[in-house]
Amino acid sequence: MGGQVTIGLIGGMSWESSAHYYRLINEAVRARRGPTASARCLMWSFDFSQIEALQHAGRWDELADRLADAGKALERGGADFLVLCTNTMHRLAGELQAAVDLPLLHIADPTGQAIKAAGLRKVGLLGTAFTMEHAFYRGRLEERFGLEVVVPDEADRALVHRVIYEELVAGVVRDESRQAYREVIARLVEAGAEGIILGCTEIMLLVGQVDSPVPVFDTTTLHALAAVERALG
Ligand code: GLU
Repeated sequence: MGGQVTIGLIGGMSWESSAHYYRLINEAVRARRGPTASARCLMWSFDFSQIEALQHAGRWDELADRLADAGKALERGGADFLVLCTNTMHRLAGELQAAVDLPLLHIADPTGQAIKAAGLRKVGLLGTAFTMEHAFYRGRLEERFGLEVVVPDEADRALVHRVIYEELVAGVVRDESRQAYREVIARLVEAGAEGIILGCTEIMLLVGQVDSPVPVFDTTTLHALAAVERALG
């Protein structure tokens, strides 16, 4: 019986994807440790209606305080490291990290590693407008992994963002939106993308490898599996 350390998940952004994290993490522990084995973990789960209101109001200072409170609560609860279950909120990874003594497993890192391992250099990024338009995410992939990251044009970014906030976080999965995402992916491939990052933890609810002519990198799965790797050692 191998030991494992405790994963501290900061979730609820949205719970639709956090539920997948919980399942993926437990399935991976079971696959490695046997049928009755499961993950040692704690989850802090936010009310996403409050989070998205603050995001769209640009109140990132308040969001940083909320993340810090969640991180500290997980630290007090006995977590050994933190997993922030959203790409967007990694905009505040530095602030969260500064508030706790626990290491944060950054979502861009397993993603960058998987892309490099696949031998790709130029990738398309789908995510919220915050993730596609600000440097915190693309920059890390570019600087740490030497990748070139391309994003959809303005109209496509608006569409990708709208589907996340109006449909996916609410558990709504529509065929029209899947088709629209397929078209956005095709345009990124035309622009030279050799792979596609599903850079929002709910996008895997809508599209997967079958919807793309090039490899897709699902950040939810990559992040969850990296957490298990770290927890089991
Ligand atoms: N889960 C999404 C992400 O990975 C979006 C929700 C949020 O803004 O946190 O970016």
